[in-house]
Amino acid sequence: MDARSSADPDTPTAPGTVYLVGAGPGDPELLTVRGDRLLRRADVVVHDALVNRALLDLVPAGSERYDVGRRAGEKLLPLEEVNALLVELAHHHQTVVRLKGGDPFVFGRGGEESIALREAGIPFEIVPGVTSGIAALAYAGIPLTHRGIAYSATFVTGHRVARTSPEDPANSPFNRRDGTLVVYMGLGRLEEIVAELLEGGRSPETPAAVIEHGTYPQQRTVTAPLRAIAGATRRAGISGPALIVVGEVVALRDQIRWLSEEGSD
Ligand code: SAH
Repeated sequence: MDARSSADPDTPTAPGTVYLVGAGPGDPELLTVRGDRLLRRADVVVHDALVNRALLDLVPAGSERYDVGRRAGEKLLPLEEVNALLVELAHHHQTVVRLKGGDPFVFGRGGEESIALREAGIPFEIVPGVTSGIAALAYAGIPLTHRGIAYSATFVTGHRVARTSPEDPANSPFNRRDGTLVVYMGLGRLEEIVAELLEGGRSPETPAAVIEHGTYPQQRTVTAPLRAIAGATRRAGISGPALIVVGEVVALRDQIRWLSEEGSD
C-alpha cells in the first residue's frame, strides 16, 4: 500500500524531494527550463538573498517561501539551521525547492546541503544554474577564454586568494598570464587582492574589470589596469554584488561590448 495515501496517521509517510535549483545570475530569462518547471510546482521555496525576487512570481500563490539569505556584512546564517529547515520541510512537502543564486555548486554551499540531506535520508536533485562568473562576463562583453589570449580560467573566492597562494606565487593559478581570473566575493578585499596579484608577478598593466549586478538592468562595469582598478571601483561607488575579472580578455570588451550600461566606462 502506498504510505502516502494511507489514512492512518501513525503510518510514516515518505519524505518529499529537495531540489537544489540554480536561479542563474539575475536576469530571470537565464533560469533553466527545468528550474522554471520546478518553481511552478513547488510546495515550498527556500531562497537566498542573491536570488532575483521576480523568480518567486513563478511559485504557486499558496506555497510557502523562506528567505534564508544574508547580504554582505550581515552575520552568516548558520548552515546547520538551513539544513535542518530543508529536512523538516521535506517531511511535510512533496516538492521543496532550494533556490540559490547562480549555480548551487559554485561557492553556493550546495555540496554541504546535499551531504546533510543524504545523511537525513532525504532524496534530492541538483539543477545547475548559470553561474555569475560566466554570465556577468558575457553580459559585459568579456570572453572568459579567447584563442591566443586566454587558455584557462580560474574561479576563486576573494576570501582565499592569499591563503591559498603557494610558496611560488608566480606559478599560482591566480597569476597565470595566459589565464583569466574571476574572483567571487572579493569586493571587500579588492585592495589586498590586487596587492597579492602584483606581488605574484602579474603586470600592473593587466586589464581588469569589476562587474556589479551582472545581468540585471542596473549592471555596471568598471575597467582599469590592475594597478588602478581598486581606486576606479571605489570612485564609482560599486557596492556589489560584484565580480573581479583580471586578464587580457578584459581588453576585448572594447570590441565585444553589446549591452548598454548606464554609468559604466
Ligand atoms: N552560486 C553563486 C555565487 C555565490 S557567492 C553563482 O554561481 O553565481 C556570491 C558572490 O557571487 C558575490 O559576492 C559576487 O561576487 C558573485 N555574484 C553573484 N551574483 C552576481 C551578479 N549578479 N553580479 C556580480 N556578481 C555576482
